[in-house]
Amino acid sequence: MSKQQPTQFINPETPGYVGFANLPNQVHRKSVKKGFEFTLMVVGQVMTMFSFSSKGESGLGKSTLINSLFLTDLYPERIIPGAAEKIERTVQIEASTVEIEERGVKLRLTVVDTPGYGDAINCRDCFKTIIAYIDEQFERYLHDESGLNRRHIVDNRVHCCFYFISPFGHGLKPLDVAFMKAIHNKVNIVPVIAKADTLTLKERERLKKRILDEIEEHNIKIYHLPDAESDEDEDFKEQTRLLKASIPFSVVGSNQLIEAKGKKVRGRLYPWGVVEVENPEHNDFLKLRTMLITHMQDLQEVTQDLHYENFRSERLKRGGRKVDNEDMNKDQILLEKEAELRRMQEMIARMQAQMQLQLQGGDGDGGAHGHHV
Ligand code: GDP
Repeated sequence: MSKQQPTQFINPETPGYVGFANLPNQVHRKSVKKGFEFTLMVVGQVMTMFSFSSKGESGLGKSTLINSLFLTDLYPERIIPGAAEKIERTVQIEASTVEIEERGVKLRLTVVDTPGYGDAINCRDCFKTIIAYIDEQFERYLHDESGLNRRHIVDNRVHCCFYFISPFGHGLKPLDVAFMKAIHNKVNIVPVIAKADTLTLKERERLKKRILDEIEEHNIKIYHLPDAESDEDEDFKEQTRLLKASIPFSVVGSNQLIEAKGKKVRGRLYPWGVVEVENPEHNDFLKLRTMLITHMQDLQEVTQDLHYENFRSERLKRGGRKVDNEDMNKDQILLEKEAELRRMQEMIARMQAQMQLQLQGGDGDGGAHGHHV
């Protein structure tokens, strides 16, 4: 993070401005009138027992980050499930759509959250649910496209997936690898390191490098920002270069406004100071947002030209039969087995910890109360 140039990523206008009003520069007028349709999926495992805080925090901060990104509360009535519920749980798909308007430009944003991902003992099911959702959207689009009313197709295809990686591991977990491989031919993956405020700058750099090495080693295809065209202006070229160099983005989210240097900013308050979400010196949040906004059209095009085309040609090869989720390659199954094994190990450790607690406390009722350990 040594080569950051703060000016490049500062909000173009007032703080709290998302910046998609510049989108019309990317596309032609017709789409401007209609507004933009964009679907972003967020996936990330809950933290393991070893990283749970006393407050029982579990998520990697997906919803907090989304709220910070779009300055809107997408999940006002969210209920966080208890520990016992989590062990049984399978992944759910929660799609929320908001329409945001800035300077007359409309964005119909759908965020697809996947709570419960990686919670259950059998992770294969959580893969299946997510893959089935992505395929269903392709399926629907294919159906609408071949229908009579092609002018008004609603595009609910998943254009991008933010994959949240835990800051507490030493890189990718087998589940991360297996999942990304399972979806990389279907959706644009943007890896992000969650809760970057829990890491020092050195640790972030180390983790980033490790993750990139592992992505290469396992042949995981993540979304590649296209190189800036040679006729683009120098600032844009430099911005693209910096964005590329920051992948995987290490981000901080917050739903709180805090007073810092006389201004109200989104941030996290610590005894030693405030971590500002929109400060490029503190984390990559603004870079992630800049990447998303400036490449929204490219993400849509790659979805159309690559992922949707893959789906369509696969369907044609099968003579129109639906793609069967059971058709996973061997490599993937092996990785899943590995992930399952790790889950089992965690469960054993959890049981051991519980037994230890019972031995110490002697209350012996063995209920699943208290925090998810
Ligand atoms: P989700 O389940 O992945 O959607 O996670 P949430 O957004 O609900 O966040 C889970 C917990 O982590 C909450 O207590 C948040 O306040 C906290 N949290 C969210 N983002 C961050 C972050 O960037 N840094 C830290 N330290 N905590 C965060």
